[in-house]
Order: sequence, then C-alpha cells, then structure tokens
Amino acid sequence: MAAKKWVIGNWKLQGSLSSNQALIEGIRARLPALDERVGMAVCPVFPYLPQVGGLIQGSGIELGAQNLSEQAKGAYTGEVAGAMLKEVGAKFVIVGHSERRSYQGEDDALIAKKTRAALDSGLIPVVCLGETKEERDSGETWDILLRQLNAVFDLIDAAKDEVVLAYEPRWAIGTGVSATPEMIADVHGFLRAYLVAKDAAFGARTPILYGGSMNGANAASIAAVKDVDGGLIGSASLKADEFVVIYEALRAAD
Ligand code: PEP
Repeated sequence: MAAKKWVIGNWKLQGSLSSNQALIEGIRARLPALDERVGMAVCPVFPYLPQVGGLIQGSGIELGAQNLSEQAKGAYTGEVAGAMLKEVGAKFVIVGHSERRSYQGEDDALIAKKTRAALDSGLIPVVCLGETKEERDSGETWDILLRQLNAVFDLIDAAKDEVVLAYEPRWAIGTGVSATPEMIADVHGFLRAYLVAKDAAFGARTPILYGGSMNGANAASIAAVKDVDGGLIGSASLKADEFVVIYEALRAAD
C-alpha cells in the first residue's frame, strides 16, 4: 500500500480571526474537492483551533496543532495536552520542529516523549527531522538523521502506530532556499529504508513529507521526487493561491 500524500500548512505564530477566515475561504474557493489520495491539513496556533475547525467543516481539510506537552495533565502552567487537542478536533500535531529545537531547546529525548504523548492521545505526530548547514557541510547529515530517528523510534511501535515524517533541512526553513531534488531524493530514500527496516508495511504506508521553502514555483519538481509523499509548508501555506498550487502539484505527481 502506497503512503497517502499530505500537504500540511504550518502557520507558525501567525493569524487572526479575520485572516484565518479569509485564508480558509480562499483555499476552499480554489479547491472545491480534495483528492482522496492527497490530504490537506492546516496547523494554526492553539487559540484558533476551534475557529479553524469550524471553517474547514465539510471541506475534507484536517486540523493540526503546532506543539503539545509531553505530559497528559497536571501542574504544568502554560502547557497543552494531546487529549485537549484531540477534543477540539486536531488530527495531527507537529513535533520536533527545528524552531522548537532551536528556540525552546527541545532535544531528542523530549521530542520522543512528545511523539509518544501524541500517539497515546490518538493524534498523528508529524515528526520533523533535519540537519543544519554546518552538519551537512561537514558530512554529518546521516548521523544526525539517524540520531533523531532512533530517539523517536525507541518509543514508536511500528506494528500499530501511525506517524508522518517530515524531512526539514534546518538551513532550508524560512530561507527561500529549498533542498535540491537530488538531496531530497537521497534523504527520503534513506528515511524510507529506515522505516521499512522497522516493519515493511509500516515503511510503505508512512508518509514522508519534505519541508523547507517549498512554494508554488518549486512544488512540481519536489513533488516529482521518489519517496516524497507531500509537503510541510510554512510561509507559502499562508497564501491560499500558493498553497493550492502546491496541493495541485502533489496531486499531479505519480
Ligand atoms: C516549516 O516551518 O515547517 C517550513 C517548512 O517553513 P517554510 O516553508 O517557510 O520554509
């Protein structure tokens, strides 16, 4: 079974009641129906999850969150638990995003716990992995990816858990410079082999997304790369027309 493709918008720390509404209405107007082989999801900040959940109703677009606590409940001021995200309609939650690794100091161990917490809450974690520019230049990409993978897969049961992986080279996020199709092919092939080695069926059905300055102009060439099962899109997901162009590129690719 081939992996389902996903185009997931990471809205980051952006949005307002009015701009969220305009964005979802813009997407819906341009894309009256989703292809069942290619899903779409949007990940607003926590306070807007119920609003956006209402706006996407009946569209087939899914809801995701950008973060969760590794804790289920308790005295953890400011945290949000997976069950709460699930209750307000989230299907996905992003974990391991490089901005949280950099600015919140999240390490592999915490990301693994968050991944487990998401799964235990019935959410699908979108687990982000990727190397820095320095790590790539010094030939460490494979070691870094393996370290990040091993940390989360220590707590994942390949026989039953459902996850999405997102290869997001840290130097490509928000920079306007995406990885080349050759780099993406190499890494996605490596990730697929890692997943298949865990469990053949799991490896085949787990979507591997690319993220990092994917936009309307480069979507078709990235979508055509083997083992690319979609995109995790930052800034281009805030523009309805561009987000839909990316979706259409994924739909058009084999
Ligand atoms: C991201 O934040 O996950 C991302 C891919 O951002 P951008 O598309 O803006 O590079």
